[in-house]
Amino acid sequence: MRTSRSDGAAGAEGRAALGRRARRIADVLAKEYPDAGCALDHRGPFELLVATILAAQCTDERVNQVTPALFARFPDATSLAAADPAELESLVRSTGFFRAKARSLRGAAETLASRFADGFPSRMDDLLTLPGVGRKTANVVLGTCFGQPAIIVDTHVRRVSQRLGLASTDDPDEIERQLQDLLPADGWTDFSHRLTFHGRRRCHARKPDCGQCVVAGLCPSHVV
Ligand code: SF4
Repeated sequence: MRTSRSDGAAGAEGRAALGRRARRIADVLAKEYPDAGCALDHRGPFELLVATILAAQCTDERVNQVTPALFARFPDATSLAAADPAELESLVRSTGFFRAKARSLRGAAETLASRFADGFPSRMDDLLTLPGVGRKTANVVLGTCFGQPAIIVDTHVRRVSQRLGLASTDDPDEIERQLQDLLPADGWTDFSHRLTFHGRRRCHARKPDCGQCVVAGLCPSHVV
């Protein structure tokens, strides 16, 4: 039953109060980060999919340094599917885990070129059939390129949503469901981008800057 999803996050606070607090947090973050969005440079869903696969365990800035040469050499799924593995590994080496990422890129490109030659897939179920693509990557593409409501649970959203008491689990799929339950769908994508910005700017992993945090008054983890 859908109402049970965020019961764990609600706890003693209660579901209705948690929902109100979540919406207030979303409003404050919207004012603080009005332009928050996808930080990966891309022109269309193919490039964003590739960039998001490369962004695993890597900064967006590093990925943005790598992708211009990558897309110049392999501008579409067909060319990427036929890439020489050694050349591809060399191009993405600096993003880390380059062998696994190169394998995922080729596998995803092969599937795109063979099964989705008529158009880039815009359904979650289809995107999840691509090698190396999980819900986070699929949500990035769906939310950014297709305007579909998407909660994107990256490392920042995972950490900040738990500190804010909006999620009660470390499991990304469950965090996605819990956040979906708290906010209207038309705000999902922007809200997750703003949580990511907040994680980068203020709610750092090691030492959150609670003294300068705009949602400190709404956060149960606020450290004085
Ligand atoms: S008050 Fe501190 S822990 Fe809570 S969201 Fe802000 S920076 Fe993070």
